[in-house]
Amino acid sequence: MLQRSFAMLAICSTSISFAQVEKPFAKHEVHRITVQTPRQLSVVTELADNIWSCSWGVGPIDAQFSPEKLPAFLAWADQQGLEHARLIPDVQSLIDAEREQIDRARRERNVDWFATYHTLAEINARLDELAANFPAFASTFSVGQSIEGRTIRGIRFSAPDQPGNPRSARPQVMVEGAQHAREWISPCVNMWVADRMLETYATDPAIRTVLDSVEVIVVPVINVDGYEYTWIPANRLWRKNRRNNGNGTFGVDLNRNWGYQWGGEGASTATNNDTYRGVSGFSEPETQVMRDFIAAQPRLKAHIDFHSYSQLILSPYAYTAALCPDNPLFERINTIMKDSIYAVHQMNYTAGPTYTTIYPASGAVTDWVYGARDVLAWGFELRDTGQTGFVLPAAQIVPTCEENFQAFLKLCEFSARPLWFSLTDGSLPNRLITGTPASFRVSIKNGSDALDPAGVALETRTSPLDPFTSTPATVQTPGIYAAAFPAFPCGATAQYRISAGTTSGRTVYYPEDGSLFSVPSADSYVTFADDMESDRGWTVGAAGDTATGGLWQRADPEPTNAQPADDASPAGTLCWITGAAAGANANANDVDGGATTLTSPRFSALPPPATRVLDIRIAYARWYSNNTGSNTNSDSMPVQISNDDGATWTQLELVTENAAKWVRKSISLPAGVAPTARMRLRFIARDTGLASTVEAGVDDVAVDVYGCLRNADVNGDGGIDGADVETFFLAWQDAQPIGDFNEDGGIDGADVEEFFLAWEHG
Ligand SMILES: [Zn+2]
Repeated sequence: MLQRSFAMLAICSTSISFAQVEKPFAKHEVHRITVQTPRQLSVVTELADNIWSCSWGVGPIDAQFSPEKLPAFLAWADQQGLEHARLIPDVQSLIDAEREQIDRARRERNVDWFATYHTLAEINARLDELAANFPAFASTFSVGQSIEGRTIRGIRFSAPDQPGNPRSARPQVMVEGAQHAREWISPCVNMWVADRMLETYATDPAIRTVLDSVEVIVVPVINVDGYEYTWIPANRLWRKNRRNNGNGTFGVDLNRNWGYQWGGEGASTATNNDTYRGVSGFSEPETQVMRDFIAAQPRLKAHIDFHSYSQLILSPYAYTAALCPDNPLFERINTIMKDSIYAVHQMNYTAGPTYTTIYPASGAVTDWVYGARDVLAWGFELRDTGQTGFVLPAAQIVPTCEENFQAFLKLCEFSARPLWFSLTDGSLPNRLITGTPASFRVSIKNGSDALDPAGVALETRTSPLDPFTSTPATVQTPGIYAAAFPAFPCGATAQYRISAGTTSGRTVYYPEDGSLFSVPSADSYVTFADDMESDRGWTVGAAGDTATGGLWQRADPEPTNAQPADDASPAGTLCWITGAAAGANANANDVDGGATTLTSPRFSALPPPATRVLDIRIAYARWYSNNTGSNTNSDSMPVQISNDDGATWTQLELVTENAAKWVRKSISLPAGVAPTARMRLRFIARDTGLASTVEAGVDDVAVDVYGCLRNADVNGDGGIDGADVETFFLAWQDAQPIGDFNEDGGIDGADVEEFFLAWEHG
């Protein structure tokens, strides 16, 4: 097959020497370029021979340049001041090494199937072999035909019927791959899923549990024509399908052709572009037959579309920055999958909604599967992060498969759960404040069973010895249930869980593992709060400050790449910000030349009298950016607290996080810092050592003392009366522990004072 392809290519292009055909990418370099505007993006696309990123937009983009085209790019990039770095010095040598490895593996006998890459024919043969070896579990199927008439094939498998557990009732989980032809690691991971589950069901209890509860569907190669085409070395980097666009260009990007929100951002109308979306949604036979196949799976619960490269776990949406309705659930599962990948080979995969985590991409399969079918869907970008890109060395096939298989197994386990719970933003309270109503919110979606909406309740108790108190939950917005916490005495710790009934009569709990959430209850005394809308006496400047520009000012910030467009408060516009004006670019009004220190006015962190303090919290919203421009991440921002009016300082945190948003922190007063009435807080924004772009902001500072009034019922009889006074004074005179009412280690007049305050309070 390969020989014939070579021969045909040689016949068709007699004017090109064989050496040129064989080494078309000699000395081609791949550069990672940080483009800042759509205009720069289109220039890079024009100047490059090929774009390597699986998805791209404004931001980092990997592009391949021939030795002929490279000088023009370098000159333009320098003139534009664009950051760029060479990732790969010679594309051809990677492809040559890959080819040699494949040839070597074919010559050797008894080589593991996953030791090398395989042609479409070899993949299909392996599907047949698996089905033949495990006939009670697996069967192959045809999805349909490609534009060149090749068959898209797959395999489905599950454990045979069990009493009360027929295969026909099990939820389905689907994986597929190679919508993009050159992403060769994608079919490998698909095949690993089928191979490992079938081969180890008999010996691995974890696999048995999964295959007893779900049916798995695998379609390893969707873009069969494109994949076959990439096995000709000169076409190794082909991405799209093989449609003849009729104007001398070939191919539609199948993963921009799905008919949900088709035709938006992140897809091209140009037929020669690698993200060409096609003439309409589902214009391509490959996406049409896949659409019909997926729609015919009645119990499909979860779907993964494998791509490479970049090491990403991407949930919907891809077409819009808006968060999808099930984003809390996706976040929960994203974290589970990311952690399970990391646990295998300590590889980091970044997880999040596609649009904001990487780039816009309209017409992607994940948006259709989720948006049109209400099935949880992901796009994975496999290894690596650009060192070899699409030409991932064969030695990395097995580790890549191993780590992603663990994420897949976790997804299967999740898919088999009767209901899917997730926490909505801020729904786990840090603390219940006595006298202040609080509710618990949880998102519930049908998993393998269906929720009875009337059967959702918050169950609480304060001791394992007590029965649960049940409070019915009500629908807040579709899918989100809320229930009010009952009142708890100050100082108690509430334990709680959600119970939910299903239409099949089951009761399901969240947390699912039988544990309980817990939250302490306390009185709250806010001793300082400032939303920066008025001048409360903050000062700018401290000994040692040398910043020459971008000093702190209280202002409404102007947006840049490194600075927020608004303050953090829901109401109001002002915050403390370093150099509020935007200027010509992000580097124009940032901190330069050293430190600028913002110090709070004096405030108290003292509790009211007769209070047992449980916690003192310093809360603030902060902005920090040091990841644009040159020498990124070379600086940091200390946040410090003083209890002696600024004579000495203790660090609360050293900020290095480039969150690109306001981050709300709530930090306990460190144990070594006693609360006083002479507290101060300061933020030191600084540009030290290597010059870098530093922008910082502070807003919504609050100091909250949590505690409970000391209990004057010192004789423990349940009432506060004269007998308590007698008990206290006897203990006080005899220096018994009860006499140290304020628990400061000494027995003195302060104890008497506090006892009477508490006693009068009742
Ligand atoms: Zn891709």
